Amino acid sequence: MRVILLGPPGAGKGTQARHISGKFGIPHISTGDIFMKNITGETELGKKAKEYLDKGYLVPDEITIDLVINRIREDDAKNGYLLDGFPRNLNQGEVLFQTLEEMGDHLDAALLIDVPFEDIKERMEGRRICTSCGASYHIKFNPPEKEGVCSKCGHKLVQRRDDHVEAVEERLKVYEEHTKPLISFFRKKNLLVSVDGTKGIEEVTEIILDVLTEMDNKDNNE
Ligand code: ADP
Ligand code: ADP
Ligand code: ZN
Repeated sequence: MRVILLGPPGAGKGTQARHISGKFGIPHISTGDIFMKNITGETELGKKAKEYLDKGYLVPDEITIDLVINRIREDDAKNGYLLDGFPRNLNQGEVLFQTLEEMGDHLDAALLIDVPFEDIKERMEGRRICTSCGASYHIKFNPPEKEGVCSKCGHKLVQRRDDHVEAVEERLKVYEEHTKPLISFFRKKNLLVSVDGTKGIEEVTEIILDVLTEMDNKDNNE
């Protein structure tokens, strides 16, 4: 199953992807996580990506597209994947389609986690992420068992480097201008499924699991 998670920054894509990928045994591929790991590890890629992330800009397509295309060609992605944070503009969407066609594969759905801008800022301000496993928490909506400590692996939680006011404003602008057009792009291809992301985390997971399970069953019956 090849699924794309769409939605504004802070919509809950990462949170949901972690729940879903285990259930379907497919890898969660998050471009944001890949960039952040490379920045922390001070790799060449990290050095190139850092200035864009810190300002809330998109990393240029020349860097991002190859990274994703190589990743989806890896062995663990043979039976599918959840793409979180890619595509983020129309060019990335088009290249992804072309590549899948060349590979003889197809996408099953683009899941839009729909959350209005009013809710987004609070989600990003309260977000805390694990310095080790990348798990995402929220001081109010999804607090860890022990303040400042990851419930899954015990490492320290920090605020994300780009969850400060200026970068958040920029990321919302980038979303409006570059990413939102992908909604009609996927709708035209009959792949768009919209999910109400304002519900609680578990409720959203249930809705998504229902949608994907139904899709998976249909696929297996064909
Ligand atoms: P959010 O969780 O806020 O949606 P991500 O973790 O997906 O953000 O991404 C963090 C940052 O990584 C983005 O602001 C952008 O700088 C960069 N990034 C992630 N995915 C892409 C992409 N597909 N194209 C360009 N830049 C990207
Ligand atoms: P994205 O990957 O789309 O940027 P995250 O999954 O990191 O978003 O979620 C952003 C913040 O909102 C995190 O602090 C997360 O705990 C919180 N969050 C995610 N889903 C919900 C939800 N349904 N209700 C309330 N808070 C949520
Ligand atoms: Zn952790």
